[in-house]
Amino acid sequence: MGFFDEFKPQDARGLSEMSKSASRADALRAVFSKRVGFGEFAAMLSPAADEFLEVLARRSKEITERNFGKTMRMFVPLYVSNECVNNCKYCGFAKRNNIERKTLTLGEVKAEVEATHKMGFRSILLVSGESPKLVNLGYINECVKIAAEKFPSVSVEIAPSPVAVYRGFVADGCEGLTVFQETYDSDVYKTMHPSGPKSNYKWRLGTPERAAEAGMRVVGLGPLFGLNDWRFEIISCAMHAKFLYKNYYHARVGISLPRMRPAESRFVARDEFVPNDRDLVKIVCALRIFMEHLAITVSTREPRFLRDGLVGLGVTQMSAASSTKPGGYAEPESAGGQFEINDNRSVEDFAQMIRSKGYEPVWKDFDGALAGL
Ligand code: SF4
Repeated sequence: MGFFDEFKPQDARGLSEMSKSASRADALRAVFSKRVGFGEFAAMLSPAADEFLEVLARRSKEITERNFGKTMRMFVPLYVSNECVNNCKYCGFAKRNNIERKTLTLGEVKAEVEATHKMGFRSILLVSGESPKLVNLGYINECVKIAAEKFPSVSVEIAPSPVAVYRGFVADGCEGLTVFQETYDSDVYKTMHPSGPKSNYKWRLGTPERAAEAGMRVVGLGPLFGLNDWRFEIISCAMHAKFLYKNYYHARVGISLPRMRPAESRFVARDEFVPNDRDLVKIVCALRIFMEHLAITVSTREPRFLRDGLVGLGVTQMSAASSTKPGGYAEPESAGGQFEINDNRSVEDFAQMIRSKGYEPVWKDFDGALAGL
């Protein structure tokens, strides 16, 4: 039975409503609770929990340091193509948008891999729009091989694929997959993804388990905040993570917390669907307290002051100096980007900020040789 069969959106909706109306006493009980279930998790996300944010932060920090040490894992996204046959309403790469399109040649992929390697990164995420003809899986497989020659850690964020395809990627040196469900509400999903293969909610929802089944060591999930009630989304995503923990012991499960950013799509998110900065901190802390070993990612979508403040509070992975344009590292003036980034510090400046807080940026935390690959 997959997550699609197990997931009960009505339970997530009920918890979200409970969270919104939680009393001060509910929040207080949750914040100090020794046994944290979904009820406590939802109460920690409540408006009433704002008053206890400092306690949440202290608890989250202590758990994070116990499980991850004083470290921050660094990674870099590498966009190999902005071609896409989908029409996601919020995305700069959507088919209807008139942007300069580009799929990197394998030579250009190599140049980007070398440029990001020179920047100091050893963990890379290959990202692509969905275009079965122009960006086929054979091409992605070649990109994986090129990246794996230089990078000990290679992950992909690409069109959802069958288990057999992921097995091939793993054999060629790919350790992880990231796939954002965007929204766990199937009706909202339909509205936001009106055409193209991505309109298949069920296929997308099953992607993380197919990746884990294929032997991926790292599986990343996430909602896109701005499409729907954020409490429902993060509660649903936590349910998804718990499902993966229960069924795929070998996988390191992670959640990313992207908030909508301006893009060519000109999509305007409703304010109440986007967690504010304080809410985002609460989400990080509540996730950490609820799932001690969860990897939590905050990318360059977020402003620098917030990213600085989140170091040590529960976040374990961050990107830096990212480009969302194919070819954007070797040639910064290249084709159209997916969205505008918010923190554009150099890698050195960002790493320095982490050290100044007493944390160590970790560039490499995996070597295929150790896993017999
Ligand atoms: S979100 Fe992904 S699938 Fe949708 S239009 Fe953008 S690149 Fe394509």
